[in-house]
Amino acid sequence: MPPTGAGREQLQGRIREFIHSNLVMVFSKSTCPYCIRVKELFVSLGIDYTALELDQSDEGASIQEMLFEMTGQRTVPNVFVNKTHVGGSDKTLQAHQNGSLQKLLDGNKITYDYDLIVVGGGSGGLACSKETASLGKKVLVLDYVVPTPLGAAWGLGGTCVNVGCIPKKLMHQAALLGQSLKDSRKFGWEYDEQVKHNWDTMRDEIQNYIGSLNWGYRVSLRDKNIRYENAYGEFVEPHKIKATNKKGKEAFYTAERFVVATGERPRYLGIPGDKEYCITSDDLFSMSWCPGKTLVVGASYVALECAGFLAGIGLDVTVMVRSIFLRGFDQEMAERAGTYMESHGVKFIKKFVPVSVERLEEGTPGKLKVVAKSTEGDQIIEGEYNTVLIAVGRDACTRNIGFEKIGVKINERNGKVPVNDEEQTNVPHIYAIGDILDGKLELTPVAIQAGRLLARRLYAGATGKCDYVNVPTTVFTPMEYGCCGLSEERAIELHGLENLEVYHTLYWPLEWTVPSRDNNTCFAKIICNKLDNERVLGFHILGPNAGEITQGFGAAMKCGLTKAVLNETIGIHPTCAEVFTTMDVTKSSGGDITQKGC
Ligand code: FAD
Ligand code: NAP
Repeated sequence: MPPTGAGREQLQGRIREFIHSNLVMVFSKSTCPYCIRVKELFVSLGIDYTALELDQSDEGASIQEMLFEMTGQRTVPNVFVNKTHVGGSDKTLQAHQNGSLQKLLDGNKITYDYDLIVVGGGSGGLACSKETASLGKKVLVLDYVVPTPLGAAWGLGGTCVNVGCIPKKLMHQAALLGQSLKDSRKFGWEYDEQVKHNWDTMRDEIQNYIGSLNWGYRVSLRDKNIRYENAYGEFVEPHKIKATNKKGKEAFYTAERFVVATGERPRYLGIPGDKEYCITSDDLFSMSWCPGKTLVVGASYVALECAGFLAGIGLDVTVMVRSIFLRGFDQEMAERAGTYMESHGVKFIKKFVPVSVERLEEGTPGKLKVVAKSTEGDQIIEGEYNTVLIAVGRDACTRNIGFEKIGVKINERNGKVPVNDEEQTNVPHIYAIGDILDGKLELTPVAIQAGRLLARRLYAGATGKCDYVNVPTTVFTPMEYGCCGLSEERAIELHGLENLEVYHTLYWPLEWTVPSRDNNTCFAKIICNKLDNERVLGFHILGPNAGEITQGFGAAMKCGLTKAVLNETIGIHPTCAEVFTTMDVTKSSGGDITQKGC
């Protein structure tokens, strides 16, 4: 039943808006063969259409009823061309054959400034805009960085390039080199000079590299004839966006479709002193001075990775953990990654949260006093640090972009955007990709893949959809943790303990034997489904180069990797990854997994 009263008028208004603002509007159902036939017709004619998949929309049933009232047609597809009701599949094909469809398409064609406007020039937005332009479409990209409370801002490319993956991995590398220097003496390297780390040199070299990437992105947009505006985008009408540049100058642009890829920004704690005195990862990588003694607040990816490399370059680092390490990840692996950090100099204050931050001394760095409270009782503790890095999660940039003006729904609880499996929001010509998606993974390659495939579906008639399942990932803690598929906890929840076989082993990388360090800390495990030919449901590795190792096993899992296939695979010796070809101790057996030698 369509809603009654004001809700009814609003729904009617939205349906009219779909019909009036799209040259070809198809009310469809994703699995309906007649709908597919009609959509294929428009693709074959090279005509961009907008489809609202009623079976994937919360309002689908109400819209279908309302369309029945408006057109006398209850079935799908229900096709409108140039504001005129054409009908279902047969009538649309007939209109094509008798030429009336073409006449409708030619008359009073709605024209827009652009085929596609992409809001956000980060991993997802740039990938989508480049792919769209290479398919011959006219594209505008808006990208704008709102400076942090402490004033940090950066260039084109989004989080990954400027304040995420790239500087993080390079600083992780700086830390690994420190360890390699220590190991090198056992391999015969002799050096007399005192070895110390210089923050300014590292920061400048990394920032120079980032600058070259920012420049490269601008050039590649220009080469593809994509217009780029360094301006903040905010919807003012369903097909119109306001772009405000740094100087406050406003411009307005229209487009047939929009892709929103505005990403996320770090969350603050909302306690006295946090925005005034604390930094986030958005400030860290370009800091003008070495952070010194640092408190990291949070226990997920960003917190542990940053704490790891800061300690690795020789700083005094403490991590304040509210509850557990790496929520959502396999907890055995997370604990082992944390234990390794602890044995390599990182201090942990567990089950505490900060309640205030006060400045004791100004300076570069200055001195801050942090008061924290136990999560389990009334205990209050204090500590002094040069820098406090807050890494307690990130908020989607969706609340100040005019979504409410054009009816795009967000999940009010977390600000994220629900989309169907084609990254389409509830407003059919508005799509969303990347970190702002509700219930999807916040990773650069995921945003890129979704953006590329979306462009191909919209403009090349492709059908491939982004597969958000079994996405491999790596946490670049001092001992890297790579994984793909289910954590042991999740596998038990989904399949039952009795149906799983977990194979595990500790291992000692050959490179670590000569310096005699960290035996029985590297760890690998796979979680297999006994009911499905011991198919690998979860792959986990903790050790050097875990990212490099995990990538290939991720591909194998896409192909349905089983324990038998791993057994048949001949290892590459001497490597760390070969442990997966020889793993024979099951967790259920309680067998010894310690390693006596390599
Ligand atoms: P972003 O890359 O964040 O791009 C969004 C862009 O839109 C930004 O430039 C933003 O300023 C701009 N914008 C926002 N609002 C507007 C507006 N209204 N108008 C115009 N422009 C706007 N992922 C990995 O895969 N591997 C890693 O190792 C990794 N490390 C990370 C380390 C850190 C410290 C952080 C914070 C993240 C890390 N990530 C990592 C996650 C990765 O950076 C993100 O998943 C990825 O950048 C998301 O891409 P996106 O296109 O959704 O958004
Ligand atoms: P996150 O995964 O949302 O984790 C937030 C952390 O902060 C949790 O440990 C949480 O503890 C803690 N926390 C939240 N509120 C707190 C409070 N008030 N006081 C104290 N602690 C608090 O956030 P994130 O680390 O910023 O990562 C964001 C996303 O970026 C990730 O999901 C990831 O996909 C992406 N990323 C990827 C990589 C990579 O691929 N290597 C690296 C970095 C980031 P609780 O567990 O108690 O809630």
